[in-house]
Amino acid sequence: MKRCCFILGVAVMMLLTGCCVKHKWEDATCTTSKRCVKCGKTEGLPLRHEWTEATCTEPRACSRCGEISVEALGHDWTERSLEAPKTCTRCGLTEGEKIRLKELVFKKIPAQDLSLMLFRKDTIIGLDYKNWTITWYDYEENEIAAVDLKQFTGDDCAWTVTTIPPYINEDIYVTFQVIDGDSTAHIYVFDGYGKELARLEQEVSIPHGHHLDLYDIADGRYVKYMDEDVETRKALVAIDFVTMTLVPPDTGTPINTVRPQDDYKTVSSVLYNDGYQLVKKTNGKYVFVHKEFRIETAEFYDATSFSPYGFALASPDGKTYDLLDMNLDAIAKGVAEGSFAAWRGDAVFYVSANGVKRFYSIK
Ligand SMILES: [Zn+2]
Ligand SMILES: [Zn+2]
Ligand SMILES: [Zn+2]
Repeated sequence: MKRCCFILGVAVMMLLTGCCVKHKWEDATCTTSKRCVKCGKTEGLPLRHEWTEATCTEPRACSRCGEISVEALGHDWTERSLEAPKTCTRCGLTEGEKIRLKELVFKKIPAQDLSLMLFRKDTIIGLDYKNWTITWYDYEENEIAAVDLKQFTGDDCAWTVTTIPPYINEDIYVTFQVIDGDSTAHIYVFDGYGKELARLEQEVSIPHGHHLDLYDIADGRYVKYMDEDVETRKALVAIDFVTMTLVPPDTGTPINTVRPQDDYKTVSSVLYNDGYQLVKKTNGKYVFVHKEFRIETAEFYDATSFSPYGFALASPDGKTYDLLDMNLDAIAKGVAEGSFAAWRGDAVFYVSANGVKRFYSIK
């Protein structure tokens, strides 16, 4: 019986080994050993993954099997500065250009025009309140157009005012208004090259001697005006700057303006780049308030609102100005000296020091 069992055992062994004389090996992979597909026998260890380093644009992946363990990191951008364009701190890739800050010097334009200058892409617009003229210059300071405003003002003219042009759809217009004795607002609109675009007329119920102030821009096209002193801050006149027609004053969704607060003396009502409004507080200092009322910055002695390029000047000490970006970071300190600053046109600021204005192009 014992012998019988032994023979049977040998036979079984022979049967098994005989069958597996030829394994059918499958190569080892990153995660599995070399293995026989017939009997499941394995040999050696898995190869393990050969990982590449993750980069800004490539994931950490196995160079053999392609498995991904970490997604591409994405660029780690630092904002552009006066020294360098927007740059990835990891791979050094750059995007766009560095900030260009340049002082503009005017030799031919009469000094009185410098009191109120507006800058467009191709032209400079000088408003001369003394002589009641608007003059358009090219950047070589050649006069290309001029309008004598006296032709618009009749005998019963109660008030005239030239509005600093709103920034709309990358174009800038000059509006000029005459409020006559019957409280009719006559509004003249010029484009950036001196061409008259529209003459609009509307009855306005405002006290004699009052004028209209730029109030708000709705839907990026409706420019609204209100009485200079109206406490309720309600639009009285609205112009559609696409069709150049008058529209009802409540047309469009107005830009969300800062809620009047006791502490806020004046509020700039035009917002650019979806960002901040400049607010003057009752203590005479300026702060930036996010349009969702989230953030109020440190107080500045003076500041400009943000230009369409997303820059503002702010003076922490009343003597020099820092350049702020839309994150409200001072990206360059002491770029200009002066005690008053404003932006004039899409990329130009001026800073006033001891009665002398210096113009800077910042974009
Ligand atoms: Zn096998
Ligand atoms: Zn692998
Ligand atoms: Zn990168």
